[in-house]
Amino acid sequence: MYISTRGGKDRLSAAQAIKLGIASSGGLFVPEQIPSFTQGELAGLVSLDYRQRAYAVLAKFLKDYSGPELASCIQAAYNSDKFDTEQIAPLVAVGDSRYLLELWHGPTSAFKDMALQLLPQLLSTALQKTDEKNEVVILVATSGDTGKAALEGFRDVDQIKIAVFFPHEGVSPIQRLQMVTQEGSNVAVIAVHGNFDDAQTGVKKIFNDTDMQNALLDKGYQLSSANSINWGRLVPQIVYYFSAYADLVKGKHIQQGQTVNFTVPTGNFGNILAGYYAKLMGLPINKLICASNSNNVLTDFLRSGVYDRNRDFHKTISPSMDILISSNLERLLYHMTGGDTNQVGAWMAKLQETGVYTIGDRYLEKLRTVFWADWADDKETAQVIQAVFSQHRYLTDPHTAVAWQVYEKYRQATGDQTPSVIVSTASPFKFNESVLSAIETKNRIAGLNEFTMLTALSELTGWPVPVALASLKNKQIIHQQSCAKEEMPAKVWEMLNKA
Ligand SMILES: *Cc1c(COP(=O)(O)O)cnc(C)c1O
Repeated sequence: MYISTRGGKDRLSAAQAIKLGIASSGGLFVPEQIPSFTQGELAGLVSLDYRQRAYAVLAKFLKDYSGPELASCIQAAYNSDKFDTEQIAPLVAVGDSRYLLELWHGPTSAFKDMALQLLPQLLSTALQKTDEKNEVVILVATSGDTGKAALEGFRDVDQIKIAVFFPHEGVSPIQRLQMVTQEGSNVAVIAVHGNFDDAQTGVKKIFNDTDMQNALLDKGYQLSSANSINWGRLVPQIVYYFSAYADLVKGKHIQQGQTVNFTVPTGNFGNILAGYYAKLMGLPINKLICASNSNNVLTDFLRSGVYDRNRDFHKTISPSMDILISSNLERLLYHMTGGDTNQVGAWMAKLQETGVYTIGDRYLEKLRTVFWADWADDKETAQVIQAVFSQHRYLTDPHTAVAWQVYEKYRQATGDQTPSVIVSTASPFKFNESVLSAIETKNRIAGLNEFTMLTALSELTGWPVPVALASLKNKQIIHQQSCAKEEMPAKVWEMLNKA
């Protein structure tokens, strides 16, 4: 069963938790008990394909979904219509002892697809299972990648409407094009004047506004979330940690049972938290290395135990990590304190009131046994893209390059030789300009547009341009709305009244 990080009487099945997205206390849903894998079960994953591995992991959490329900959700999400490789999440060796876990082979070329191809399936099934009569309205705040992945996942899904809010100046041109050209009869896409935190706070406000929720319910609408606060977003991400480990064993890079590190480019703390769950479940993980860009609030937190969001917000070339409030940290705090909901609630209240909270030495020590953290600025990021390309002919996107650089810093600081996976979260084509600028001289780029840049990258790497990105060229711009952050509730009503 699922309960809230901030206590209260909610005790729900997985289907109900996925349907609601966020708990009534304002907290996040967490599993009451964390299931585990035996060494034998882990070894059994090695010979399975991605879908079968997904089944093995998800079945332990989604107890109320029947076997056939789960299997059909997984089949609909992870197949070769949606992903450009049979492996779904391939592990690629680059140089010696660097393994990149490529999570960007889905329809929108970023790792959000790993969760957002499955979430609509899990949610639709949840609506049937719980006999829900209302229509579900999904609200999404996006720093760029979630929005498009959610739109693709939820477009034209029965009984569901989706509104995506993105920061007006905070996404890359390709990310913007992906969203404003979105087709589908149940979608709205709105630019917010502000940064990602403004958009996220605006969405959270709507979720906490009981008057608005009641008014929506009167009209037959139930709110839900596709952000990583929804358990249905998080649980699919646990799978690829197990899958990467199984692939390391399969490729004879490690022996079954040996520990590995994962370095994760982190923003909202959803991806790396899934790695933490994998560790709690018995996957042999040594360190989870948290990589940030100049918005290094998590680096400071994991080093000092002080979370302080009162700092300048930086726009970087890794925009999906331009975040100062990492929502999923709340789940980590819950598990770290052994489920002390009063303590978690108190820290979150402090964060809301003052922008700062301190966890103290005892808890900090506990976190540091698992996590290590550092950050890289834009200049280092560009240098890594260039260096990896010239040494290995392998092109990373800026988010992955941040992780690569932080992993180098970890190796230097600790000397730890444990085999390490670098989690690769986006295709380099998605951040064409930053990537091309890192490996080409200025005058060779001058005058290129979004699409000629894609072609240039393809020529340099010999990799094909992802089909969905190439086809943006011929798509019509459908969504032109923008609003102030205060106007977000009105925009939700506007979408629903139009329907
Ligand atoms: C969302 C995103 C991240 C950050 O992931 P979190 O789960 O928010 O920590 C990193 N890289 C890319 C490309 C992303 O889209």
